[in-house]
Amino acid sequence: MPLDVGMYERRADYKSEKQCQRTSLAYYRAVRDLLPVWLLEDIRTTEAFHWEDEGRACAFSPSEALLYALVHDHQQYARHLLQRFAVHALAMPSASFRCCAHSSTPHVAVAVRYNRKNILKMMMDTLKDCADEGAKKLLLNHRGCAHAEGGKTALHLACDLARPECLLLLLGHGACPYVTDRAGDTPLDCLLQQISQSATDMRTKRVCLGYLVLFMPALRFRMRTELRENPALWSRLIGVQAVQWLSGQCPPSLFVQCMRNVTRSVPDEQLESLPDFLRPPDFRLHQS
Ligand SMILES: [Zn+2]
Repeated sequence: MPLDVGMYERRADYKSEKQCQRTSLAYYRAVRDLLPVWLLEDIRTTEAFHWEDEGRACAFSPSEALLYALVHDHQQYARHLLQRFAVHALAMPSASFRCCAHSSTPHVAVAVRYNRKNILKMMMDTLKDCADEGAKKLLLNHRGCAHAEGGKTALHLACDLARPECLLLLLGHGACPYVTDRAGDTPLDCLLQQISQSATDMRTKRVCLGYLVLFMPALRFRMRTELRENPALWSRLIGVQAVQWLSGQCPPSLFVQCMRNVTRSVPDEQLESLPDFLRPPDFRLHQS
């Protein structure tokens, strides 16, 4: 019996660039429409392909699926991917999901950018179970490439965008507040710049400041000189006591000192259940 050439042509076409665009868009929309997890996994593992620049069709990895779940806040899907694939769901996605070769693994930064605190919490819980400390630190503290994220870490982004919940989650799970971006700024420098540039969300920014300094026993940051040289301006923005203490002229308030000890002694997983008075927007930088 002669081969049904037409059938084989159609099959070859199944992984063509055009067909990949079609199936990947359908998968993207299915995640956006929050379709059930089993259906999404069925589509991901059997039907949907994305096209890579070197000219090949690729199935979506769990890590690429998690990026879609993050963008569309599909929490059930994110939970499934993290439970089933653990840290593999946080692996580097293929080239078409990245800016360039210098891009960091994007999940943590994407969670902060879109303020997906619930999924970020799931991701932090997954990292907690990861035995590879080096990989964990890299995921938390890696700087983005110069083009897409200005060489910033997820902590810098949380400060730039004033996301207190994300900030606390990251700090509580070991993100380092002393890492500098490509401009040499720490997350605290970025936050102080945001505070001085615009009065929008000032209360939220102050909560971020409160969280950040709890995890920075050594106040190493560039803006310190600026605080010392313009005390009047900064006192208006963050309060006299905070300026004196951040610029090294007096010790932090008793409240901050106590909270630092509490933060150090509380296990990571209990940080989110801190008492109400520590929750946004009630963090106090100075004693009342
Ligand atoms: Zn780049």
